[in-house]
Amino acid sequence: MNDSINAQYDVAIVGGGMVGSMLCAALATSSQHANTPLRVCVLENKLPPPFEPGTDPEYDLRVSALSVASQNMLEHVGAWNGIATRRCCEYKRLSVWDNEQGGRTDFNAADIQASHLGHIVENRVIQLALLERIAKLDNVTVVSPAKLSRYRYTQSGIELTLDNNATVQAQLVVGADGANSTVRQQAGITMDKKNYPQHALVASVATQLPQQDITWQRFVPAGPQAFLPLCDQRASIVWYDTAEQIDALKALSEADFIDRLQAAFPTELGLVNEVYGRASFPIAKAHASSYVANRVALVGDAAHTVHPLAGQGVNIGLLDAAALAQVLSNAHAQQRDLGDQKILRRYQRWRYTENQIMISALDSIYEAFKPRPPLVQKARSASLNLVEQITPIKHRVMKHAMGLSGDIPVIAQS
Ligand SMILES: Cc1cc2nc3c(=O)[nH]c(=O)nc-3n(C[C@H](O)[C@H](O)[C@H](O)COP(=O)(O)OP(=O)(O)OC[C@H]3O[C@@H](n4cnc5c(N)ncnc54)[C@H](O)[C@@H]3O)c2cc1C
Repeated sequence: MNDSINAQYDVAIVGGGMVGSMLCAALATSSQHANTPLRVCVLENKLPPPFEPGTDPEYDLRVSALSVASQNMLEHVGAWNGIATRRCCEYKRLSVWDNEQGGRTDFNAADIQASHLGHIVENRVIQLALLERIAKLDNVTVVSPAKLSRYRYTQSGIELTLDNNATVQAQLVVGADGANSTVRQQAGITMDKKNYPQHALVASVATQLPQQDITWQRFVPAGPQAFLPLCDQRASIVWYDTAEQIDALKALSEADFIDRLQAAFPTELGLVNEVYGRASFPIAKAHASSYVANRVALVGDAAHTVHPLAGQGVNIGLLDAAALAQVLSNAHAQQRDLGDQKILRRYQRWRYTENQIMISALDSIYEAFKPRPPLVQKARSASLNLVEQITPIKHRVMKHAMGLSGDIPVIAQS
Protein backbone atom coordinates (compact mmCIF):
# COMPACT_ATOMS: atom_id res chain seq x y z
CA MET A 1 0.00 0.00 0.00
CA ASN A 2 1.07 3.53 -0.75
CA ASP A 3 2.53 5.30 2.26
CA SER A 4 3.03 8.84 0.96
CA ILE A 5 1.69 10.86 3.84
CA ASN A 6 2.15 14.29 5.47
CA ALA A 7 0.24 15.51 2.43
CA GLN A 8 -2.84 17.55 1.52
CA TYR A 9 -6.07 15.84 0.34
CA ASP A 10 -9.60 16.94 -0.46
CA VAL A 11 -11.12 14.09 1.57
CA ALA A 12 -9.47 11.90 4.23
CA ILE A 13 -11.44 8.73 4.99
CA VAL A 14 -10.66 7.09 8.33
CA GLY A 15 -11.37 3.34 7.97
CA GLY A 16 -10.87 1.31 4.80
CA GLY A 17 -13.48 -1.32 5.69
CA MET A 18 -16.28 -2.16 3.26
CA VAL A 19 -18.00 1.23 3.64
CA GLY A 20 -14.89 3.47 3.70
CA SER A 21 -13.45 1.71 0.64
CA MET A 22 -16.76 2.10 -1.22
CA LEU A 23 -16.84 5.83 -0.42
CA CYS A 24 -13.28 6.18 -1.69
CA ALA A 25 -14.02 4.24 -4.90
CA ALA A 26 -17.22 6.21 -5.59
CA LEU A 27 -15.58 9.60 -4.94
CA ALA A 28 -12.45 8.84 -6.91
CA THR A 29 -14.23 7.31 -9.94
CA SER A 30 -16.91 10.02 -10.13
CA SER A 31 -14.33 12.81 -10.28
CA GLN A 32 -11.69 11.00 -12.36
CA HIS A 33 -12.65 12.77 -15.57
CA ALA A 34 -13.08 16.20 -13.95
CA ASN A 35 -10.46 18.89 -14.67
CA THR A 36 -9.14 18.47 -11.15
CA PRO A 37 -10.00 14.97 -9.81
CA LEU A 38 -10.67 14.77 -6.08
CA ARG A 39 -7.60 13.72 -4.09
CA VAL A 40 -8.73 11.08 -1.61
CA CYS A 41 -6.79 9.41 1.19
CA VAL A 42 -7.85 6.27 3.11
CA LEU A 43 -6.32 5.58 6.51
CA GLU A 44 -6.82 1.94 7.53
CA ASN A 45 -5.61 0.44 10.76
CA LYS A 46 -5.49 -3.21 9.65
CA LEU A 47 -5.94 -4.79 6.22
CA PRO A 48 -7.53 -8.23 5.83
CA PRO A 49 -5.34 -11.19 4.88
CA PRO A 50 -4.78 -11.44 1.09
CA PHE A 51 -6.97 -13.63 -1.13
CA GLU A 52 -5.75 -13.87 -4.74
CA PRO A 53 -8.35 -14.79 -7.38
CA GLY A 54 -7.91 -18.44 -8.37
CA THR A 55 -6.87 -19.52 -4.86
CA ASP A 56 -9.19 -21.07 -2.27
CA PRO A 57 -8.26 -19.85 1.23
CA GLU A 58 -10.31 -20.70 4.32
CA TYR A 59 -13.62 -18.82 4.53
CA ASP A 60 -13.99 -15.59 6.50
CA LEU A 61 -16.44 -16.25 9.34
CA ARG A 62 -18.09 -12.88 8.68
CA VAL A 63 -20.31 -12.80 5.63
CA SER A 64 -22.85 -10.26 4.32
CA ALA A 65 -26.05 -10.65 2.35
CA LEU A 66 -25.39 -8.01 -0.32
CA SER A 67 -28.55 -6.49 -1.80
CA VAL A 68 -29.02 -5.88 -5.52
CA ALA A 69 -28.50 -2.13 -4.85
CA SER A 70 -25.12 -2.94 -3.25
CA GLN A 71 -24.18 -5.08 -6.26
CA ASN A 72 -25.12 -2.16 -8.55
CA MET A 73 -22.81 0.17 -6.58
CA LEU A 74 -19.95 -2.34 -6.63
CA GLU A 75 -20.39 -2.81 -10.38
CA HIS A 76 -20.51 0.94 -10.96
CA VAL A 77 -17.20 1.57 -9.21
CA GLY A 78 -15.54 -1.39 -10.96
CA ALA A 79 -15.19 -3.68 -7.91
CA TRP A 80 -17.77 -6.40 -8.64
CA ASN A 81 -15.41 -8.34 -10.86
CA GLY A 82 -13.00 -8.64 -7.91
CA ILE A 83 -15.83 -10.33 -5.97
CA ALA A 84 -17.02 -12.56 -8.81
CA THR A 85 -13.47 -13.80 -9.50
CA ARG A 86 -12.97 -14.68 -5.83
CA ARG A 87 -16.09 -16.17 -4.15
CA CYS A 88 -19.78 -15.27 -3.84
CA CYS A 89 -23.08 -17.11 -3.83
CA GLU A 90 -26.15 -15.77 -5.61
CA TYR A 91 -29.50 -16.51 -3.94
CA LYS A 92 -32.89 -16.37 -5.59
CA ARG A 93 -35.14 -17.47 -2.76
CA LEU A 94 -35.58 -16.63 0.92
CA SER A 95 -37.59 -18.79 3.30
CA VAL A 96 -38.71 -17.40 6.67
CA TRP A 97 -40.73 -19.35 9.22
CA ASP A 98 -41.99 -19.12 12.79
CA ASN A 99 -40.93 -22.34 14.47
CA GLU A 100 -43.45 -22.13 17.33
CA GLN A 101 -46.66 -21.40 15.43
CA GLY A 102 -45.81 -22.59 11.93
CA GLY A 103 -46.31 -19.29 10.04
CA ARG A 104 -44.15 -19.23 6.93
CA THR A 105 -43.42 -17.07 3.93
CA ASP A 106 -41.24 -17.82 0.90
CA PHE A 107 -39.83 -15.08 -1.31
CA ASN A 108 -38.79 -15.88 -4.87
CA ALA A 109 -37.01 -13.43 -7.21
CA ALA A 110 -38.93 -14.89 -10.17
CA ASP A 111 -42.20 -13.55 -8.66
CA ILE A 112 -41.02 -10.00 -9.40
CA GLN A 113 -39.26 -10.89 -12.66
CA ALA A 114 -35.84 -10.46 -11.02
CA SER A 115 -32.93 -12.82 -11.67
CA HIS A 116 -31.90 -12.95 -7.99
CA LEU A 117 -32.49 -11.38 -4.55
CA GLY A 118 -28.85 -10.90 -3.55
CA HIS A 119 -25.47 -12.53 -2.92
CA ILE A 120 -23.85 -13.93 0.20
CA VAL A 121 -20.25 -12.69 0.19
CA GLU A 122 -17.45 -12.90 2.74
CA ASN A 123 -16.71 -9.46 4.25
CA ARG A 124 -13.01 -9.88 3.44
CA VAL A 125 -13.82 -10.47 -0.24
CA ILE A 126 -15.92 -7.27 -0.45
CA GLN A 127 -13.20 -5.20 1.23
CA LEU A 128 -10.35 -6.68 -0.86
CA ALA A 129 -12.23 -6.20 -4.16
CA LEU A 130 -12.78 -2.52 -3.33
CA LEU A 131 -9.19 -1.97 -2.14
CA GLU A 132 -7.89 -3.67 -5.30
CA ARG A 133 -10.00 -1.30 -7.40
CA ILE A 134 -8.92 1.87 -5.60
CA ALA A 135 -5.25 0.84 -5.76
CA LYS A 136 -5.54 1.35 -9.54
CA LEU A 137 -6.80 4.96 -9.25
CA ASP A 138 -4.23 7.75 -9.53
CA ASN A 139 -6.09 10.16 -7.28
CA VAL A 140 -6.24 7.78 -4.27
CA THR A 141 -3.70 7.10 -1.53
CA VAL A 142 -4.27 4.18 0.85
CA VAL A 143 -2.16 4.28 3.99
CA SER A 144 -2.03 1.13 6.11
CA PRO A 145 -1.31 0.40 8.86
CA ALA A 146 -2.45 3.87 9.91
CA LYS A 147 -4.43 4.54 13.07
CA LEU A 148 -6.04 7.92 13.65
CA SER A 149 -5.25 9.30 17.10
CA ARG A 150 -6.73 12.80 16.92
CA TYR A 151 -7.45 15.75 14.68
CA ARG A 152 -7.47 19.54 14.96
CA TYR A 153 -8.83 22.38 12.88
CA THR A 154 -6.47 24.58 10.85
CA GLN A 155 -7.23 27.84 9.02
CA SER A 156 -8.22 26.11 5.80
CA GLY A 157 -9.21 22.62 6.85
CA ILE A 158 -8.43 19.83 9.26
CA GLU A 159 -5.21 18.08 10.30
CA LEU A 160 -5.27 14.43 11.31
CA THR A 161 -2.53 12.92 13.46
CA LEU A 162 -1.82 9.20 13.35
CA ASP A 163 -0.49 7.10 16.21
CA ASN A 164 3.01 7.28 14.65
CA ASN A 165 2.72 11.11 14.67
CA ALA A 166 2.49 11.39 10.87
CA THR A 167 -0.06 14.01 9.78
CA VAL A 168 -2.57 14.35 6.96
CA GLN A 169 -4.34 17.56 5.91
CA ALA A 170 -7.79 17.56 4.31
CA GLN A 171 -10.81 19.76 3.63
CA LEU A 172 -13.08 17.07 5.05
CA VAL A 173 -12.60 14.01 7.28
CA VAL A 174 -15.05 11.12 6.97
CA GLY A 175 -15.42 8.63 9.81
CA ALA A 176 -15.88 5.17 8.28
CA ASP A 177 -14.15 3.69 11.30
CA GLY A 178 -16.89 1.40 12.58
CA ALA A 179 -19.09 1.25 15.65
CA ASN A 180 -16.43 2.58 18.06
CA SER A 181 -15.55 5.45 15.71
CA THR A 182 -12.69 7.68 16.90
CA VAL A 183 -13.81 10.38 14.43
CA ARG A 184 -17.30 10.42 15.95
CA GLN A 185 -15.96 10.60 19.50
CA GLN A 186 -13.48 13.39 18.62
CA ALA A 187 -16.31 15.36 16.98
CA GLY A 188 -18.32 15.07 20.21
CA ILE A 189 -21.23 13.42 18.38
CA THR A 190 -23.25 11.34 20.82
CA MET A 191 -24.75 7.93 20.11
CA ASP A 192 -28.17 6.69 21.22
CA LYS A 193 -27.43 3.01 21.90
CA LYS A 194 -29.40 -0.01 23.11
CA ASN A 195 -27.77 -3.39 23.67
CA TYR A 196 -30.06 -6.27 22.77
CA PRO A 197 -30.07 -9.13 25.30
CA GLN A 198 -28.75 -11.28 22.45
CA HIS A 199 -25.41 -12.31 21.02
CA ALA A 200 -24.86 -13.76 17.55
CA LEU A 201 -22.85 -16.88 16.88
CA VAL A 202 -21.41 -17.17 13.38
CA ALA A 203 -20.01 -20.43 12.03
CA SER A 204 -18.72 -21.73 8.73
CA VAL A 205 -19.79 -25.29 7.89
CA ALA A 206 -19.30 -27.92 5.16
CA THR A 207 -22.44 -29.70 3.99
CA GLN A 208 -23.00 -33.08 2.39
CA LEU A 209 -25.13 -31.58 -0.40
CA PRO A 210 -24.17 -28.63 -2.62
CA GLN A 211 -25.84 -25.41 -1.50
CA GLN A 212 -29.02 -24.34 -3.22
CA ASP A 213 -29.99 -20.79 -4.23
CA ILE A 214 -31.96 -20.22 -1.02
CA THR A 215 -31.35 -18.61 2.37
CA TRP A 216 -33.16 -20.12 5.36
CA GLN A 217 -34.22 -18.22 8.45
CA ARG A 218 -36.28 -19.65 11.28
CA PHE A 219 -37.53 -17.69 14.27
CA VAL A 220 -37.59 -19.31 17.71
CA PRO A 221 -38.30 -17.41 20.99
CA ALA A 222 -34.55 -17.02 21.69
CA GLY A 223 -33.99 -15.29 18.34
CA PRO A 224 -33.57 -16.02 14.62
CA GLN A 225 -31.32 -18.74 13.21
CA ALA A 226 -30.08 -18.42 9.64
CA PHE A 227 -28.50 -20.89 7.21
CA LEU A 228 -26.85 -18.94 4.38
CA PRO A 229 -25.51 -20.60 1.23
CA LEU A 230 -21.86 -20.14 0.23
CA CYS A 231 -20.08 -21.71 -2.74
CA ASP A 232 -20.15 -25.46 -3.43
CA GLN A 233 -20.70 -27.43 -0.22
CA ARG A 234 -20.16 -24.61 2.27
CA ALA A 235 -22.64 -22.55 4.27
CA SER A 236 -22.63 -19.86 6.94
CA ILE A 237 -24.66 -20.07 10.15
CA VAL A 238 -25.86 -17.03 12.13
CA TRP A 239 -27.58 -18.02 15.38
CA TYR A 240 -28.93 -15.58 18.02
CA ASP A 241 -29.47 -16.31 21.72
CA THR A 242 -28.52 -14.96 25.14
CA ALA A 243 -24.80 -14.46 25.79
CA GLU A 244 -24.80 -17.52 28.11
CA GLN A 245 -26.46 -19.80 25.54
CA ILE A 246 -24.13 -18.60 22.79
CA ASP A 247 -21.10 -19.33 25.03
CA ALA A 248 -22.54 -22.80 25.66
CA LEU A 249 -23.02 -23.39 21.91
CA LYS A 250 -19.44 -22.32 21.23
CA ALA A 251 -18.20 -24.73 23.89
CA LEU A 252 -20.05 -27.75 22.42
CA SER A 253 -18.00 -30.46 20.74
CA GLU A 254 -18.15 -30.36 16.94
CA ALA A 255 -20.43 -33.44 16.86
CA ASP A 256 -22.88 -31.97 19.39
CA PHE A 257 -22.91 -28.62 17.59
CA ILE A 258 -23.69 -30.38 14.31
CA ASP A 259 -26.57 -32.22 16.04
CA ARG A 260 -28.01 -28.86 17.16
CA LEU A 261 -27.77 -27.47 13.62
CA GLN A 262 -29.40 -30.50 12.05
CA ALA A 263 -32.25 -30.42 14.53
CA ALA A 264 -32.88 -26.75 13.67
CA PHE A 265 -32.82 -26.66 9.87
CA PRO A 266 -34.90 -28.52 7.25
CA THR A 267 -33.78 -32.03 6.33
CA GLU A 268 -33.71 -31.03 2.64
CA LEU A 269 -30.44 -29.19 3.43
CA GLY A 270 -28.77 -32.57 3.99
CA LEU A 271 -26.13 -33.36 6.60
CA VAL A 272 -23.59 -30.95 8.04
CA ASN A 273 -20.22 -32.70 7.76
CA GLU A 274 -17.79 -30.31 9.40
CA VAL A 275 -17.59 -27.03 11.32
CA TYR A 276 -14.63 -24.80 10.45
CA GLY A 277 -14.89 -22.07 13.03
CA ARG A 278 -17.21 -20.37 15.50
CA ALA A 279 -17.17 -16.76 16.72
CA SER A 280 -19.68 -14.56 18.50
CA PHE A 281 -20.64 -10.87 18.67
CA PRO A 282 -22.80 -8.77 21.00
CA ILE A 283 -25.78 -7.17 19.22
CA ALA A 284 -26.81 -3.54 19.58
CA LYS A 285 -28.76 -0.86 17.78
CA ALA A 286 -27.28 2.62 17.82
CA HIS A 287 -27.81 5.88 15.99
CA ALA A 288 -25.53 8.93 16.08
CA SER A 289 -27.26 12.19 17.07
CA SER A 290 -25.89 13.71 13.84
CA TYR A 291 -23.97 12.43 10.79
CA VAL A 292 -22.09 15.71 10.37
CA ALA A 293 -20.06 18.23 12.36
CA ASN A 294 -17.56 20.95 11.47
CA ARG A 295 -15.63 19.46 8.46
CA VAL A 296 -16.67 15.96 9.57
CA ALA A 297 -19.11 13.36 8.18
CA LEU A 298 -19.91 9.83 9.36
CA VAL A 299 -20.85 6.79 7.25
CA GLY A 300 -21.68 3.13 7.94
CA ASP A 301 -21.38 1.64 11.42
CA ALA A 302 -19.71 4.86 12.64
CA ALA A 303 -23.13 6.48 12.16
CA HIS A 304 -25.48 3.58 12.98
CA THR A 305 -25.64 -0.08 13.88
CA VAL A 306 -28.73 -2.20 13.33
CA HIS A 307 -29.87 -5.65 14.45
CA PRO A 308 -28.31 -7.96 11.82
CA LEU A 309 -31.36 -10.27 11.62
CA ALA A 310 -32.27 -8.99 8.14
CA GLY A 311 -28.68 -8.55 6.93
CA GLN A 312 -29.03 -4.82 6.27
CA GLY A 313 -26.05 -3.27 8.15
CA VAL A 314 -23.47 -3.05 5.41
CA ASN A 315 -26.12 -2.45 2.74
CA ILE A 316 -27.29 0.77 4.38
CA GLY A 317 -23.66 1.74 5.04
CA LEU A 318 -22.85 1.37 1.34
CA LEU A 319 -25.87 3.55 0.52
CA ASP A 320 -24.50 6.23 2.91
CA ALA A 321 -21.17 6.05 1.06
CA ALA A 322 -22.79 6.40 -2.38
CA ALA A 323 -25.05 9.27 -1.21
CA LEU A 324 -22.14 11.18 0.37
CA ALA A 325 -20.01 10.62 -2.76
CA GLN A 326 -22.83 11.98 -4.94
CA VAL A 327 -23.28 15.10 -2.78
CA LEU A 328 -19.52 15.77 -2.56
CA SER A 329 -18.88 15.16 -6.28
CA ASN A 330 -21.59 17.68 -7.19
CA ALA A 331 -20.09 20.20 -4.75
CA HIS A 332 -16.60 19.60 -6.14
CA ALA A 333 -17.85 20.17 -9.71
CA GLN A 334 -19.10 23.57 -8.48
CA GLN A 335 -15.70 24.23 -6.83
CA ARG A 336 -17.27 24.45 -3.38
CA ASP A 337 -15.44 23.86 -0.08
CA LEU A 338 -16.25 20.21 0.76
CA GLY A 339 -16.36 21.02 4.47
CA ASP A 340 -19.20 23.52 3.94
CA GLN A 341 -21.98 22.72 6.42
CA LYS A 342 -24.68 23.36 3.82
CA ILE A 343 -23.24 20.57 1.67
CA LEU A 344 -22.79 18.18 4.56
CA ARG A 345 -26.33 18.81 5.81
CA ARG A 346 -27.66 17.81 2.39
CA TYR A 347 -26.11 14.35 3.00
CA GLN A 348 -27.50 14.22 6.53
CA ARG A 349 -31.04 15.08 5.37
CA TRP A 350 -30.86 12.41 2.68
CA ARG A 351 -29.68 9.50 4.79
CA TYR A 352 -30.70 10.15 8.41
CA THR A 353 -34.43 9.53 8.11
CA GLU A 354 -34.01 6.57 5.73
CA ASN A 355 -31.69 4.90 8.27
CA GLN A 356 -33.93 5.75 11.23
CA ILE A 357 -36.82 4.00 9.46
CA MET A 358 -34.63 0.92 8.89
CA ILE A 359 -33.40 0.86 12.52
CA SER A 360 -37.00 1.08 13.79
CA ALA A 361 -38.26 -1.57 11.34
CA LEU A 362 -35.58 -4.05 12.40
CA ASP A 363 -36.25 -3.28 16.06
CA SER A 364 -39.97 -4.00 15.48
CA ILE A 365 -39.14 -7.38 13.92
CA TYR A 366 -36.91 -8.14 16.93
CA GLU A 367 -39.74 -7.12 19.32
CA ALA A 368 -42.35 -9.13 17.42
CA PHE A 369 -40.35 -12.35 17.65
CA LYS A 370 -39.41 -12.06 21.33
CA PRO A 371 -41.01 -14.63 23.69
CA ARG A 372 -44.69 -13.59 23.76
CA PRO A 373 -48.02 -14.73 25.20
CA PRO A 374 -49.73 -17.35 22.96
CA LEU A 375 -52.21 -14.84 21.48
CA VAL A 376 -49.42 -12.51 20.29
CA GLN A 377 -47.51 -15.53 18.93
CA LYS A 378 -50.57 -16.53 16.92
CA ALA A 379 -50.94 -12.98 15.52
CA ARG A 380 -47.23 -12.96 14.57
CA SER A 381 -47.53 -16.26 12.78
CA ALA A 382 -50.72 -15.09 11.04
CA SER A 383 -48.89 -12.00 9.79
CA LEU A 384 -46.19 -14.17 8.17
CA ASN A 385 -48.94 -16.18 6.47
CA LEU A 386 -50.62 -12.92 5.45
CA VAL A 387 -47.43 -11.67 3.76
CA GLU A 388 -47.34 -15.05 2.00
CA GLN A 389 -50.87 -14.59 0.69
CA ILE A 390 -51.00 -10.90 -0.23
CA THR A 391 -48.94 -10.56 -3.38
CA PRO A 392 -48.46 -6.74 -3.44
CA ILE A 393 -47.16 -6.73 0.18
CA LYS A 394 -44.83 -9.61 -0.60
CA HIS A 395 -43.46 -7.87 -3.69
CA ARG A 396 -42.92 -4.62 -1.78
CA VAL A 397 -41.01 -6.46 0.99
CA MET A 398 -38.79 -8.09 -1.67
CA LYS A 399 -38.01 -4.80 -3.44
CA HIS A 400 -37.14 -3.26 -0.07
CA ALA A 401 -34.80 -6.16 0.83
CA MET A 402 -33.13 -5.77 -2.59
CA GLY A 403 -32.43 -2.13 -1.68
CA LEU A 404 -34.36 -0.88 -4.69
CA SER A 405 -36.99 1.24 -2.94
CA GLY A 406 -36.76 4.74 -1.44
CA ASP A 407 -34.53 7.61 -2.51
CA ILE A 408 -31.42 5.72 -3.60
CA PRO A 409 -28.20 7.23 -5.00
CA VAL A 410 -27.67 7.14 -8.78
CA ILE A 411 -24.96 4.46 -8.65
CA ALA A 412 -27.24 2.11 -6.66
CA GLN A 413 -29.98 2.19 -9.29
CA SER A 414 -30.31 -0.63 -11.83
C1 LIG B 1 -23.17 -11.24 13.43
C2 LIG B 1 -23.30 -10.15 12.41
C3 LIG B 1 -23.80 -10.47 11.15
C4 LIG B 1 -23.96 -9.44 10.18
N1 LIG B 1 -24.49 -9.78 8.97
C5 LIG B 1 -24.69 -8.80 8.05
C6 LIG B 1 -25.28 -9.08 6.76
O1 LIG B 1 -25.63 -10.22 6.41
N2 LIG B 1 -25.48 -8.06 5.89
C7 LIG B 1 -25.15 -6.77 6.22
O2 LIG B 1 -25.39 -5.86 5.42
N3 LIG B 1 -24.56 -6.47 7.43
C8 LIG B 1 -24.35 -7.44 8.34
N4 LIG B 1 -23.77 -7.13 9.55
C9 LIG B 1 -23.35 -5.74 9.81
C10 LIG B 1 -22.04 -5.41 9.08
O3 LIG B 1 -21.04 -6.35 9.40
C11 LIG B 1 -21.59 -3.99 9.45
O4 LIG B 1 -22.66 -3.11 9.23
C12 LIG B 1 -20.38 -3.59 8.58
O5 LIG B 1 -19.26 -4.38 8.87
C13 LIG B 1 -20.04 -2.12 8.79
O6 LIG B 1 -19.00 -1.77 7.90
P1 LIG B 1 -18.11 -0.47 8.15
O7 LIG B 1 -17.14 -0.43 7.03
O8 LIG B 1 -19.01 0.70 8.40
O9 LIG B 1 -17.38 -0.72 9.55
P2 LIG B 1 -16.30 -1.82 9.92
O10 LIG B 1 -16.52 -3.09 9.18
O11 LIG B 1 -16.29 -1.89 11.42
O12 LIG B 1 -14.92 -1.18 9.39
C14 LIG B 1 -14.28 -0.12 10.05
C15 LIG B 1 -12.82 -0.08 9.60
O13 LIG B 1 -12.18 1.05 10.22
C16 LIG B 1 -10.90 0.66 10.70
N5 LIG B 1 -10.60 1.56 11.83
C17 LIG B 1 -11.24 1.63 13.03
N6 LIG B 1 -10.71 2.60 13.80
C18 LIG B 1 -9.70 3.16 13.08
C19 LIG B 1 -8.78 4.21 13.33
N7 LIG B 1 -8.77 4.91 14.49
N8 LIG B 1 -7.86 4.54 12.38
C20 LIG B 1 -7.85 3.87 11.17
N9 LIG B 1 -8.71 2.86 10.90
C21 LIG B 1 -9.63 2.51 11.82
C22 LIG B 1 -11.05 -0.81 11.08
O14 LIG B 1 -9.80 -1.48 11.03
C23 LIG B 1 -12.03 -1.32 10.01
O15 LIG B 1 -11.37 -1.82 8.86
C24 LIG B 1 -23.60 -8.12 10.51
C25 LIG B 1 -23.07 -7.80 11.78
C26 LIG B 1 -22.93 -8.81 12.72
C27 LIG B 1 -22.39 -8.47 14.10
